[in-house]
Amino acid sequence: MMSSRGTEFSDDAVVLRNFKSGEADRIAVLWTREHGKVRVLAKGSRKAASKLGGALDPLSIVRVNLVQGKGDLYVTRNVAHLHALSTLRSSYQRISAGYAVVEGVDAIPLDEVADEGIFDLLLRVMLSLDDLTFDPTLVPAAFFLKFLAYDGSEPLLEECAGCGSPGPFFAFDVGIGGVLCGSCRRGAALTPDTHQLLVRVLGGDLAGVLREKNPAGGTELVHLAHAAMENHLGKKLKVARMTPTIQSVNHD
Ligand SMILES: [Zn+2]
Repeated sequence: MMSSRGTEFSDDAVVLRNFKSGEADRIAVLWTREHGKVRVLAKGSRKAASKLGGALDPLSIVRVNLVQGKGDLYVTRNVAHLHALSTLRSSYQRISAGYAVVEGVDAIPLDEVADEGIFDLLLRVMLSLDDLTFDPTLVPAAFFLKFLAYDGSEPLLEECAGCGSPGPFFAFDVGIGGVLCGSCRRGAALTPDTHQLLVRVLGGDLAGVLREKNPAGGTELVHLAHAAMENHLGKKLKVARMTPTIQSVNHD
């Protein structure tokens, strides 16, 4: 599916993470718009004079020129920031929320599968975190829920996932993937506030939820969304787990 070796092409991307390679190089892991998840070698990017270094910091939204190198590795000589993200970068809480999201995306088991829908979700996350009118606390949870829906595992919220009853609901089970009535209850306890937040996040009122500071049921939503994402991926997410602690001590 990739361009033939030697042909340069450009793509938009969000930087998920990077790591050192050799003496002066760095390898960045990007989620691109048109080529999915790729690993990119940035030669010399750890030298002080390199323009590539800062542009490959995690969470950056970039336009990158790529040439296919050895194996599945690409080489870049040119990276440009598409957004400054200065509000995101100025807040520890916003950066932490961004890291929780990119960790989740990095754990998606689809190397080099082009998926513009995931790129668009990721782009919206970074721009939301850069918007001062949005509280960052629930952004990772909202992303995980949106991703589950996008990936065909949208939580069942309108009827009991066990027996189909119209409610009231008392529990949410990540294995079953939905809310449960009093007779079928298992998994985590669910309050009416958290149920309402789930419905709003997945039903088109995410912006309204993010404009509220500490909406009722938010802490439970964070735990539930992280558990649902981990269950879906079959992996633990470290950063996401830390986020509730961070938010309780650091409000911006
Ligand atoms: Zn039931």
